[in-house]
Amino acid sequence: MTSSPTFPTPLSLSPSRIGAFESCPLKFRFVNIEKLPDPPTIEKYKGTIVHRILELLLKEDSAERTSEMARHLFDTVQYTAPNDEDFSYLELTSDANHPFWVDVRKLVDTYFSMEDPTVVKPEAMELRVEHSMGDFKLTGIIDRLERDEDGNFVIVDYKTGKSPAPNFVEDKMKAMMLYAWLCKQEKGSSPAALRLLFLKDGKAVETRPLQNKVDFQLQRVKAIYGAIKRSCETGHFGTKKGPLCNYCDYQRWCPEFGGDPARAAQEAPVVIGVKPK
Ligand code: SF4
Repeated sequence: MTSSPTFPTPLSLSPSRIGAFESCPLKFRFVNIEKLPDPPTIEKYKGTIVHRILELLLKEDSAERTSEMARHLFDTVQYTAPNDEDFSYLELTSDANHPFWVDVRKLVDTYFSMEDPTVVKPEAMELRVEHSMGDFKLTGIIDRLERDEDGNFVIVDYKTGKSPAPNFVEDKMKAMMLYAWLCKQEKGSSPAALRLLFLKDGKAVETRPLQNKVDFQLQRVKAIYGAIKRSCETGHFGTKKGPLCNYCDYQRWCPEFGGDPARAAQEAPVVIGVKPK
């Protein structure tokens, strides 16, 4: 006789969820399986705003993608932000609000020092991609899919942090290899290049999606999905105590800090005070 799973196994997985499980399985359970409230952070929200401005900018006709247009989009986004639940949750004081927007402006200005948006040939912005991997669907959102001079696809992703040291570049490209595979499945051809734009220090990192690297990432995803499935079936999601615990909203329900994970589902919506997504 087989016993019922303690948690339903997810039917889809994205590169960010894969990374979340690797960072801490228990936190993954809280956020992605139990769907407990996941409050925004200043850094995450800053990233969302910058992505939004660049998405709108690149959707303009090529000649309109000027710094003046970016400034106009910045003003619009800043003006409407107080209506956004996530922004309100941050409760930025007037001392914190100004530097927040100065930072957003700097990141957008840095973008203009990295490329000329009037010559970019975007095919799609914030493109949702997905494909079956058997038991589950691999999904993701590509920041920008564009064509190079030869008409080949190029996948571009914006990062609001600093560029990595050379020995960490491969790590930063893991999700991009999966996007390359999804691009091939959905669009029928592999991208010629994968490019990360690090807006904090204005550096771009580019690589080609070599087949062996794509295959390696696909194997890794299957292995992680297997681990998630086992955790859902047994109900055991391990902890990973480390520096990130200092920023974890679920500490009070984590055994590493004397908490009981079983209480989180009932208590988190009240304690965290933000709606689950
Ligand atoms: S406090 Fe640390 S170990 Fe516990 S759930 Fe959060 S990230 Fe994981």
